[in-house]
Amino acid sequence: MEMRVPLSSLTDSVTRRIEGTMASMTGLMADPVIRLGVTGLSRAGKTVFITGLVANLLDRGRMPQLKAHAAGRIEAVWLQPQPDMTLPRFAYEEHLAALTGDTPRWPASTRAVSELRLSFRVRPTGMFAGVQGVRTVHLDIIDYPGEWLLDLSLLGQSYEAWSDATFARIARRPQARDYLATARAEDGSRPLDESRAQALADSFTAYLNAAREDGYSDCTPGRFLLPGDLAGSPVLTFAPLPKPGDAPKGSLWHEMARRYEGYKSKVVRPFFRNHFARIDRQVVLVDALGAIHAGPQALEDLRRTMADILIAFRPGANSFLSQILMGKRVERILFAATKADHIHHTQHPRLTAIMEALLRDARDRANFAGARTEAMSLASLRATVEETVTRHGETVEAVRGRLMDGRQVALYPGELPADPARLLSPAREGAEGWLDAEFALMSFAPARTTLRPGEGPPHIRLDRAAEFLIGDRL
Ligand code: GDP
Repeated sequence: MEMRVPLSSLTDSVTRRIEGTMASMTGLMADPVIRLGVTGLSRAGKTVFITGLVANLLDRGRMPQLKAHAAGRIEAVWLQPQPDMTLPRFAYEEHLAALTGDTPRWPASTRAVSELRLSFRVRPTGMFAGVQGVRTVHLDIIDYPGEWLLDLSLLGQSYEAWSDATFARIARRPQARDYLATARAEDGSRPLDESRAQALADSFTAYLNAAREDGYSDCTPGRFLLPGDLAGSPVLTFAPLPKPGDAPKGSLWHEMARRYEGYKSKVVRPFFRNHFARIDRQVVLVDALGAIHAGPQALEDLRRTMADILIAFRPGANSFLSQILMGKRVERILFAATKADHIHHTQHPRLTAIMEALLRDARDRANFAGARTEAMSLASLRATVEETVTRHGETVEAVRGRLMDGRQVALYPGELPADPARLLSPAREGAEGWLDAEFALMSFAPARTTLRPGEGPPHIRLDRAAEFLIGDRL
């Protein structure tokens, strides 16, 4: 929890108040805008989700659950230049070409924040149908790494507290062995030597990458994994260090602490101020199947990390956020388990129940300050078809897809338990493996599809997701 209110946040809140007033004044004349945030940890499926969603909003043949579409009220949808000229545009066309080309492949994942604007021309409903003409509604989709939300916890922590907490967390992780040895051999009271600082930061980054590779989710600071154009800059050249007895000005420890503070003020705060604070609707994507496949420890780590991520949506929990949001809040939050095409649809309710259980803790603590929330399982791009196969003389509900090497295979991943506690309890208790059964997964390639005119790529429940997120505004 942050105690002091730095001057920069005071001026932030004043600027934001003026922006807010301007927005509501111009709002009287301008077309309404929905700002939809899409986040999730690395590889959760953000890029594929946005690509699939946009393609299916442009061509709505597979979107029956989007009510405005089913009622025939959407006259047109088109892509527009986005309003924020300094943000990279989400590379929609490139990603769609990758997914739907002759040799379909998965697109390159989210590396940083990007944006895309989609505009809808809709006819009004009900009692306004007669009086109001056709309206235009803009949907700004903002894609950003979930790891960046985890950085929120750094704001309330000093360098010393962060270092201690990090050491406590990684002490027993084999991936951190090299880093721990390097850090312990260091004398933080000695004058800063840039090459040593760099070596420490590199070694810590190598740990973060290895931990993430092995399925850990709590890999912060977020920009160390996805540095973008900050790579090599001083704000990313720090690492946790044990506090020496004496850390004078100019010492390694002192300089590391200064850079850590620089990371907070120059990297973390601006992201929350400029992007996060303006989001109205949010979808948090979660690769729950991936974590279950990786085992109990990965699932428990995912559960804890999700709880940390969700703190960002309970602004009262953090004074910096309360400052910049000034009462504004995200109105709807969708928690979606992605890649549900890995399991037969009869198991989807179980996956959704696991999502709900994963989020229950976080949700119980405060119902996200009144935001509407929903859990769902979906596939942004359906890469499989369902199939009943015989296995050891038993028939099981499987899925069939094409592997990356081109082979067609049927996959029976195993049965998800009806009671999520069967997975979450052993995870919480630190079990090494699942007792009953292993849960298999395969990396399917996107299927080759020929899209009929008016149809977007195949998906599972993207229309329901869209209805929950933006349906009320269309
Ligand atoms: P990001 O890092 O959150 O942007 O994740 P991506 O959108 O790049 O997705 C990561 C990987 O997950 C992809 O390369 C695919 O292998 C897989 N994936 C994502 N969405 C789906 C889906 O709907 N179905 C299947 N089968 N795999 C998916």
